[in-house]
Amino acid sequence: GLKVGILALQGEVSRHAAALRALGATPVEVRGPADLAGVDGLVLPGGESTTMSKLLDSSDLRAPLAARLADGMPALGTCAGMILLATEVLDGRADQQSLGTIDVTVRRNAFGRQVNSFEADLDLTWDGAAVDGGPFHAVFIRAPVVEAAGPDVEVLARVGEHPVLARQGPTVVASFHPELTDDLRLHRLFLSTFEEN
Ligand code: GLN
Repeated sequence: GLKVGILALQGEVSRHAAALRALGATPVEVRGPADLAGVDGLVLPGGESTTMSKLLDSSDLRAPLAARLADGMPALGTCAGMILLATEVLDGRADQQSLGTIDVTVRRNAFGRQVNSFEADLDLTWDGAAVDGGPFHAVFIRAPVVEAAGPDVEVLARVGEHPVLARQGPTVVASFHPELTDDLRLHRLFLSTFEEN
C-alpha cells in the first residue's frame, strides 16, 4: 500500500492519519529527513505556518522536502500547509519562507475579516468534472485567501470569487480543513494523484 507522510512538526496530524488509514494507506509521521525518505507523498497539515516554516529549517527538512517536491512527490497542503506550498505569501512574517510548489498567491488570516472561523458547502470539481456525492462541507479556521492563481493551476472549488481548493499536477491545496469532517473524498482524490505519478 501507499505510505503517506504527514508533516508532524506542529499542527493537526492525527485526523489526517485517520482519514488516510480509512482509505487503506499507511500514514507516517514525518519529523526529519529519514522519515521523508520513506514516504510516497506528504500531507502538510493545518497549524501555524510561521512556526512550521521555522521548524522546517531546524528539523533539516527544508532542503530534502524541496527536492522531493521538485521531483513530483504528491503533496496535500491544508490551511497552514497551503501557505507553506504557495509561491507567494502576503501578510507573512519576514522570516517565513514558503516552498513555492504551487503557483498561487495567498494572504494569511484574511478570509472574512469579521470572523476567525466559518463553514461552507462547496461544489467540488476534479479534472474539469463535478465530484460525485454532493456538496463538500468545509471548515475554515483563520484560513488563507487565495488572491491569485497562475495559468497552470486548476481551481477545484471557490467561496465567492476566491479559490479555496486548487491543484497543480500532484500538488493539491485547500484553505479549509478536510480532516475535520468525515468526508473522505478529498483525501481519496489526493491519493488518486499517486497513480498518475
Ligand atoms: N492562520 C494560520 C497561518 O497563517 C493557518 C490556520 C490553520 O492552519 N488553521 O499559518
